[in-house]
Amino acid sequence: MIGIIGGTGTSSLKDTYPIIREETVNTEYGTAPTISILDIDNKEVAYIPRHSEGHSVPPHKINYRANIQALKNIGVRQIYATNSVGSLDTNIQPGSLLIPDNFIDFTQNRISTFYDEEVVHIDCTEPYCQSLRETLLKSGEVHPYGIYIATEGPRFETGAEIQFYKLIGGKVVGMTGVPEVVLAKERQMCYASICAVTNYAASISPNKLTITEVVDAMKDCEEKLIQIITKTIKNTNDNLNCECQNILDDAII
Ligand SMILES: [Zn+2]
Repeated sequence: MIGIIGGTGTSSLKDTYPIIREETVNTEYGTAPTISILDIDNKEVAYIPRHSEGHSVPPHKINYRANIQALKNIGVRQIYATNSVGSLDTNIQPGSLLIPDNFIDFTQNRISTFYDEEVVHIDCTEPYCQSLRETLLKSGEVHPYGIYIATEGPRFETGAEIQFYKLIGGKVVGMTGVPEVVLAKERQMCYASICAVTNYAASISPNKLTITEVVDAMKDCEEKLIQIITKTIKNTNDNLNCECQNILDDAII
């Protein structure tokens, strides 16, 4: 089954597609938000709201392990995640989408692994699934690559931090992408992210964005997200036998 981890602005997926059933999954890491099994193009797709129903859990408090384990337990093998981001590049404008190809992690206080009791080092050279990335690239108009900078939050970044992130090659910055992608990898699931650019990061644009511009950008992103997700689900080969699904064979244990 394909899974969608929905960030800000994806709840309308549940109004767009028929809900086949809803599942509450208890895992050894905690209870995940209710998962809705949607019918998208005659495929069963598991939708989980990352921040829980009503967008109530802040990024640094999300139980990322419970969310990933719950999807694993109900049979999800491929995950598309949506993440709201700020742009570090004036060529990547609010209202556009970017498919990251790598990340740099600046989070500080999160449980970032399933392997607390044993020594397992998974390869993260290419953290995002190449097959799912390719499917996304052919399903909509997107910026095809870029480094995602993950910050702890909940505060936004300082201007100095943003200039540093830009200097080291970052294209977008957000608070929810890591450790989620790593945990999915540890559970041998294919995972790719769709980043929705809702604003310029601090100090990038000389003009301060108005609230209207941010709201417009979010609306733009929401419509584009629904479109790309719909096309991507149609285009996804759900019998894919991808190397992500055997990654522990090569992990250093
Ligand atoms: Zn894969």
